[in-house]
Amino acid sequence: MRPLREVQAEILGRVPLLPEVRVDPVESVGLALVEPIDAPEDIPGFANSAMDGYAIQAASVGTVPVDLEIIGEIAAGSSAASRVVPGTAFKIMTGAPLPEGADAVVRVEATEAARESIVRILESVRAGEHVRPAGGDLHSGARVFEAGLRIGPAHASVLAALGIAPLVRRRPVVAMMATGDELVPRLTPQLEPGQIRDSNTTLMRGLLEALGCEVADFEIVGDDPGVFRAALDEAAGSADVILTSGGVSMGDYDVVKALLQGRGVDFWQVAMQPGKPLAFGEVSGKPFFGLPGNPVSVFVAFEQFVRPALLAMLGANLLFRDRVDGVMDEPIKAAEDKEVFARVVTERGGDGMLRARPSGGQSSNVLSALALADALAVVPVGRAVLEAGDPVELEMIHRPEARSRAEVLDE
Ligand code: AMP
Ligand code: MG
Repeated sequence: MRPLREVQAEILGRVPLLPEVRVDPVESVGLALVEPIDAPEDIPGFANSAMDGYAIQAASVGTVPVDLEIIGEIAAGSSAASRVVPGTAFKIMTGAPLPEGADAVVRVEATEAARESIVRILESVRAGEHVRPAGGDLHSGARVFEAGLRIGPAHASVLAALGIAPLVRRRPVVAMMATGDELVPRLTPQLEPGQIRDSNTTLMRGLLEALGCEVADFEIVGDDPGVFRAALDEAAGSADVILTSGGVSMGDYDVVKALLQGRGVDFWQVAMQPGKPLAFGEVSGKPFFGLPGNPVSVFVAFEQFVRPALLAMLGANLLFRDRVDGVMDEPIKAAEDKEVFARVVTERGGDGMLRARPSGGQSSNVLSALALADALAVVPVGRAVLEAGDPVELEMIHRPEARSRAEVLDE
C-alpha cells in the first residue's frame, strides 16, 4: 500500500494546468487568478457623500445653529456646477460627488428648513465627516488580490468595481461515467435480482458542480470493454478530465483495470479507508481518475484526490479542506495500517469544542451514514481506535446552514 500523502503528491505533480482565458467577472466565480490584481484606479474614484444631507465647509458650522444658503443640489450620478464657499451649502445625496470647496457633510437629520433656500444646521461636523474620500477603499496601484486566489462572489464584485476582466484558467469540463453491469438508471422503479440503481453518477455530478466544473455525464457504461472504450474515447475528445467509478479492484469483471492497466494508467492500493483501490493516469492525454465502486469510497477518493487535483489544474493556491480540532464523543475503531476517514456528525459542546460521533455504519457501502455526516474524522495510520474524549482532526465536508429560524429569531 502507498501512503496517502505520497499518492496525493504524485497526482498533483502529474496533472496539467488548464489553459488561460480572460473572463467577465460574472463568469469568474470558482476560478483562480493567474496574475495578481493591482487597482488601476482609486475606489471610490472621487470623494463622495456617505449620507443624504448638506455638503458644507466645516468652518461654516463651527457654531450652531447656523443658517446657510442652499446654492444647489447633487444626486448620485451627477456633479456640482459651482463651488461651496463659506456660508453656503449644497444639498447632496448618498454617493454623489462632493462639490469643490466642501470638506464635510451634515446629515439631513441634523438640519431643518429655515426659509426659502436657507437650511438651518443644528450640528457641528469635523472636516472629512460623512465623506468617503477618493481611494478610501482602494488606492490606485495597491495590490488587491494575489495570484492563485479562488474567486468568490465578493472578489468578483471587486473586479467588477475596478472594471477588470481577470485572467483565469478555463472552467474544467469533467467527463464522468459509472462502470458495472449490475447498474440500472436511478429512477428505475423495479429492480431485477442483483441489480442496483446507479447512485455514483449523482454523487460525482453534485461534487463536481459544487466545485464549479462543467460536467459531461456519460452515465452507466456497464462492464463491456467495447462500450467503455467508446465512451472513454468520446470523453477524451471533449473533456479536460475523466472520472469513472468501479472496476478498479481485483474482480473478474473489473473493466477499467482490464482495459487501461499498462496503458498509461496506474493501479494503486492507497493506505486509506475507505477508498483503497485507485487508478490514475492519462487516457489520450487527459488526466484519468478511476475511483472505486463503493459510494463512500467514491466520496472520500474524490475529496482526497480529485478535488485537490482540479483546484491545482485551475491554478488555485489552496487545495485541501480546512481541518479543525474536535473531540470524539463516542469511541471509533479504525484500521491501524490505513488513514481512516470516519463519517461523523459534529455538535458544539458547552465548551465550544466540536464533539464528533459516528453518523452510522462505517462500511464503504453505507451511503446513508455519509449523507448524514458533516465531517470526516481523520484517524491517522498507527491508531486502531479513538476513545471517547480523544482529540480528533475533523475535515468539514458539509457545513451549510447550521442555525434554525427558532435559534436565531425566537428568543
Ligand atoms: P466494483 O469496484 O466495480 O466491484 O464496485 C464495488 C461495489 O460498488 C459494487 O458491488 C456496487 O455495489 C457498488 N457500486 C459500483 N458502482 C456503483 C454505482 N454507480 N452506484 C452505486 N453503487 C455502485
Ligand atoms: Mg464493478
